[in-house]
Amino acid sequence: MYSYYEQILLLFSTPFYIVIIGAEILLSSLHFHKRTYSFRDTLTNIYLTIANGLIDMAFKLGYLWVLVQVFNHSPFKSWHPGFIYWTALLVAEDFTYYWLHRFDHELRFLWAVHVTHHSSQKFNFSVGFRSSVFEPLYRFVFFIPLAWAGFKPLDILFMYSATQIWGTLVHTELVGKLGWLEKIFVTPSHHRVHHGSNPKYLDKNMGMFLIVWDKLFHTFQEELPETEYAPIQYGLTKNLENPNAFTVIFHEWIQIYRDIMQKGLTLKQRINYIFGPPGYSHNGSRKTSRQMEREEAECSRRSAQICEEISANQRESEKKNPLSIYRNAENQ
Ligand SMILES: [Zn+2]
Ligand SMILES: [Zn+2]
Repeated sequence: MYSYYEQILLLFSTPFYIVIIGAEILLSSLHFHKRTYSFRDTLTNIYLTIANGLIDMAFKLGYLWVLVQVFNHSPFKSWHPGFIYWTALLVAEDFTYYWLHRFDHELRFLWAVHVTHHSSQKFNFSVGFRSSVFEPLYRFVFFIPLAWAGFKPLDILFMYSATQIWGTLVHTELVGKLGWLEKIFVTPSHHRVHHGSNPKYLDKNMGMFLIVWDKLFHTFQEELPETEYAPIQYGLTKNLENPNAFTVIFHEWIQIYRDIMQKGLTLKQRINYIFGPPGYSHNGSRKTSRQMEREEAECSRRSAQICEEISANQRESEKKNPLSIYRNAENQ
């Protein structure tokens, strides 16, 4: 089920990951005197990557079959694999990944899957393995246009794995900004922003390999110096009260269930709780990323007193919503 290229990739990347994770632990504790890793968090990351791998294996035959059917009906399948083929595949696969990742962030039922990747309050190479466990069930849908464009299904999966290595390596605080590379490629600085829960950083920098998609589709945000903006707070805007092996995967689903079961909601409100943006609420008890970002911008434009009023109102409406399984922001 793995192409020859993908097997080579696996063979080399696995020991490489072990070496760089070891080096990062050593460097960050010796040189930067910082606890970048915690035992429990790293163990959770390993657990999530194994769970994701098992689900991927179980469904691979099924989604490969779909991609092969589409490829067989493609009018372009005689495309000869050469430099142009592979370069086009790299760009096209990265483009489709951008949209997969963007939908993961903007539709709550997909966010319920992707949220696990963002639930660590640490940021290190091992967080790159904190997989969105059920993503293999729908990722292939985004690859269907690629199969139709004449890219072989196994080549598409190989390219996804190859760009994912890059996507894993950008999970580090040890690398600063990288000059001209910042203009084209996704860098650790870009991805630190992606994992930030600060309002300005929410739902930004969704690219895996090329940052150009974020710049084109207005989701780009540069990492700002501490003189200009607050330091990055990794994790969720509201982190889990009691993370365990079950809730770390299913907590957002549990919350969706509680939300739609509330009494007195209209059908539209129930639908919004599933298909609307994360943070949607019918009574203002929670906020979407865009609402938080707008309020923060408003705060910095106006006086500190206005900011205090906004957060007091927020605390009040959160109290009125006893359904949440998340810890409130002020308790973090
Ligand atoms: Zn994400
Ligand atoms: Zn990440």
